Amino acid sequence: MANRNMHYIGGVIISIFGLNRLQSNGLMISDELSIILLLLGVLSSRLPDILEPPNGRHRKILHSYLVLVILVIVIGSIFNSLIIKQDDLLVLVFFILLGYTSHLLLDLPNLPVIN
Ligand SMILES: [Zn+2]
Repeated sequence: MANRNMHYIGGVIISIFGLNRLQSNGLMISDELSIILLLLGVLSSRLPDILEPPNGRHRKILHSYLVLVILVIVIGSIFNSLIIKQDDLLVLVFFILLGYTSHLLLDLPNLPVIN
């Protein structure tokens, strides 16, 4: 199971990747917004453990493969809609979900299928 710092690092990496993918697909993201998005991604990487604190046995529905699969699908569809039409609110949601997903990816060996 990844520790807190690993989750922050995962959040940074996935957010930089997300920013890069959006910008190389034509989205205009200012430097100021980029910083906010990176912060959102990093903070959201802790979200699963805030919603489901690790006490003894890790993990219920919010740490499950089911949620991971749903997130990947939702992130993909948000990405597609963002490159068609820029929407700053949706960009924020996109980075929150990216951060959350990075957490599940790092917790992957420990995820229940569904619980
Ligand atoms: Zn966790």
